[in-house]
Amino acid sequence: MTKEKREIIHNEMKGLLLSSSSPLCSSTSSRRALMVFGKRIGGGGGGASIRRTLASASSSSSRPPPPSSSSKKKKKSSDALANQRDCDCCVATNTFPINPSRNRIQYQSRQCATVASSSSSTNNQQQRKMLSSIEPPTVAKELVEYLNKSWTAFHATKNAEEMLKKEGFVKLDEDKSWSSSKLKPGGKYYMVRNQSCIVAFCLGGEYVPGDGFHIIAAHTDSPCPKLKPVSKRKERAGCIGIGVQPYGGGLWHTWFDRDLSVAGRVLLKKKDGRVQSELVTIERPIVRIPSLAIHLDREINQSGFKPNLETNFAPILATAIKAELEGFNNKSNGNNNNNISSGGGETMHHPIILAILAEELKCEQDDIVDFELNVCDTQKSQIGGATNEFIFSGRLDNLCSSFCALKALIDASKDSSLKKHKGARAIALFDNEEVGSVSTSGGGGTVMIEAIKRATLSSKGNSSASSEGDSDVIERCLAKSFLVSADMAHAVHPNYSEKHEEQHQPLFHKGVVVKHNANQRYATTALTAYMFRECAKLSGVSTQEFVVKNDMGCGSTIGPIVSAQTGIRTVDVGVPQLSMHSVREMMGTEDVDICHKHFLAFYENIAKVDASVQLSS
Ligand SMILES: [Zn+2]
Repeated sequence: MTKEKREIIHNEMKGLLLSSSSPLCSSTSSRRALMVFGKRIGGGGGGASIRRTLASASSSSSRPPPPSSSSKKKKKSSDALANQRDCDCCVATNTFPINPSRNRIQYQSRQCATVASSSSSTNNQQQRKMLSSIEPPTVAKELVEYLNKSWTAFHATKNAEEMLKKEGFVKLDEDKSWSSSKLKPGGKYYMVRNQSCIVAFCLGGEYVPGDGFHIIAAHTDSPCPKLKPVSKRKERAGCIGIGVQPYGGGLWHTWFDRDLSVAGRVLLKKKDGRVQSELVTIERPIVRIPSLAIHLDREINQSGFKPNLETNFAPILATAIKAELEGFNNKSNGNNNNNISSGGGETMHHPIILAILAEELKCEQDDIVDFELNVCDTQKSQIGGATNEFIFSGRLDNLCSSFCALKALIDASKDSSLKKHKGARAIALFDNEEVGSVSTSGGGGTVMIEAIKRATLSSKGNSSASSEGDSDVIERCLAKSFLVSADMAHAVHPNYSEKHEEQHQPLFHKGVVVKHNANQRYATTALTAYMFRECAKLSGVSTQEFVVKNDMGCGSTIGPIVSAQTGIRTVDVGVPQLSMHSVREMMGTEDVDICHKHFLAFYENIAKVDASVQLSS
């Protein structure tokens, strides 16, 4: 290959990089624009003009004039440039006129590893600074904040409630009448069940009872070890462990050698005899599940890590000797009135656990009558990746969907389009999806359908427009409703790409994934997929498709369960991620932004899209 030809190819490649995918060359907003049907909305001509400039510089075969030696400083920097010119692959690049306002292009031009110049370390420093200061989308940072406050389904629900209250949503108590005076068109409401599930909705300005609910549903729970009803264990090898049972289908080997703690809900008996629940998060790492050293299991890398979840999975809380010295006796806490004893003064949990909870909740140990505690990772969720394009965190499945739904509903409730909207915009964040959804607060329970029924019936007295009749108002509402079942999706794994069907390989930054399964593991139909895609398309957001390989089993989620119970048209969707059900998962920051935008587009466009489709009878 001739030198000239090589230069041209080099420049073309650089032009493509700059115009399409290089995060170095574009602002966050223009990078985000890349996701819109592969077209660039912001800064679209940059690549082409750069290519043209490079091509003209290259074809002229000109070199910059020798640098002036008027100052040592100038000489030094020109020497550096001269050094770079000695390298074949940088010749054309260095002819590119460096513009201070295009620093990123300048850095791009200094990527050649063969260049050893005095300016390279300075440039590297600048480059590091640039890379580390790349701003992820605001909504991704907000999700990280939400994750760090939401260690359990209880906390996720509580934090969702706080966000809704702040935006003027009114709480509706399940055990009180939802009187007609409360529910009005344009109003914003929510209800909570079991502290772990929340349903929220806002009624359109032109809402009439019998109008449909446009719902985004997700789940608040994630796989984790949970403390057993009697978590106290016999001392083993001088250590005090705690008994746990696995919740859901976790990748349990990832929980070994992590700095763990506990969080959840504690029931406290007050002095007046009332029992109240308090949420607790112990932020310091108080437990750990140590792995076995390689020296004691030489075959592990060949035969796989197969821990016995009953015998190998108990977290270590303390050494027995230290606990004894500090006055914590495993047999009794020294007080036979302890409320959390199984009788005879025997405690159900090690006194150290009770002491930690009492210290955190500023109560007496004897006030604790019971609790539901999850073992949690103490490592904070954070933005990561070379260009800050990932989130590393636990519980992305499915707090990412929950948060995006929540934020989209809040935004949609403030949108001027709500005034003209006929129908209701809603979210349902269920508990217990990871164990099949069959619970009072799960998708298989009654919570969402009851909220819809009560909202519809309670609104009747306030409606200025007359509904078509009373007897079938609920059925009409359900027939007009639409459910987006949002749960995370599997991005294709670069090291295991053979696990994905070749035409269905969801990628980061390419859109929310529409999930299909012929055997109804997902509730998506051609109609619901089209409607969901069309909502996005109207707002310039792209989507992807997923179906599992025929020689592999398919997961499932709340979509089939809720749609079967209610008859609501449903689409199953999700944001692509890696390491699903690991203690530490990962996803793309841009994908949070895409998901939020898509959900907002759903609320804004679904009525219009619905009006445009008709199934022939
Ligand atoms: Zn999930």
